[in-house]
Amino acid sequence: MHELAIATSLAETLIRYMKENAVKVTAAHLRIGPFSGIDPEALNFAWEPAVANFPGSGLEKCHLVIRMAKVKHSCRECGKCFEFDDWQIKCPSCGRETLHRESGSEFILESAEVQDV
Ligand SMILES: [Zn+2]
Repeated sequence: MHELAIATSLAETLIRYMKENAVKVTAAHLRIGPFSGIDPEALNFAWEPAVANFPGSGLEKCHLVIRMAKVKHSCRECGKCFEFDDWQIKCPSCGRETLHRESGSEFILESAEVQDV
């Protein structure tokens, strides 16, 4: 389950952030692309055991807020950009099969809710 490794490195990132800024992170907002290979449910499931590896870190009360990113495509032919929930081949504007995937593989820590310690 590689989500545990991802959750662990996310925990490390947040712990570093908490130390540098003297705050406690209470929620981490993530954006995950459908092509990132990360299962949001598995990541949520892995979060608790990942945090348990860092006792006293202050992350115990932090929860994850995961949002799936839309997939952005651009058309090589007509240059238009589109957002899809899933994979599409044809350009909705000109009908050609010249779509190029611009995004959908991201794993982004968008923001964190913090409290002063
Ligand atoms: Zn097009």
